[in-house]
Amino acid sequence: MTSVLNRLFGRKKRKRRTVVLRPYGKLYNLQEIYEELNNEYFDAKLDLRISWFGNGVSVPKTRMLFGSYNHQTKLIKINRLLDRASVPEYFVRYIIYHEMLHDLLPPIRQKNGRRSIHHKEFNAREKQFPDYALAQEFLKKWKKRAIDVS
Ligand SMILES: [Zn+2]
Repeated sequence: MTSVLNRLFGRKKRKRRTVVLRPYGKLYNLQEIYEELNNEYFDAKLDLRISWFGNGVSVPKTRMLFGSYNHQTKLIKINRLLDRASVPEYFVRYIIYHEMLHDLLPPIRQKNGRRSIHHKEFNAREKQFPDYALAQEFLKKWKKRAIDVS
């Protein structure tokens, strides 16, 4: 019966996937940090959702994997690997700030037709984050695996 209905109605009959938000970590409350950043740097104008993702074990190799932002669902996801004492709060705030910027400054289509995600305006605005330099230093240490993530 279900397969007949699916054939008749196709995708329309399928339920939309609901996202379970998990903003509370052991150490960091993403919702709280998001709201602080929204007030401090975005005039409280952003209306996004935020959640941890991952099991906190697999180590991302690049910054991209620390967080992501989906323009359709307006959902920020932060890797649970950052929910540990060896990761300072300014770094978690920086990653969330970065993902929030993606909503404010969406990708730009360049003359060659390619999408530029971290474009000039984005990078300039990102550098306005007060702890930007500190966060970059931490990132370097992370890449050298000088951070204890065990
Ligand atoms: Zn980005």
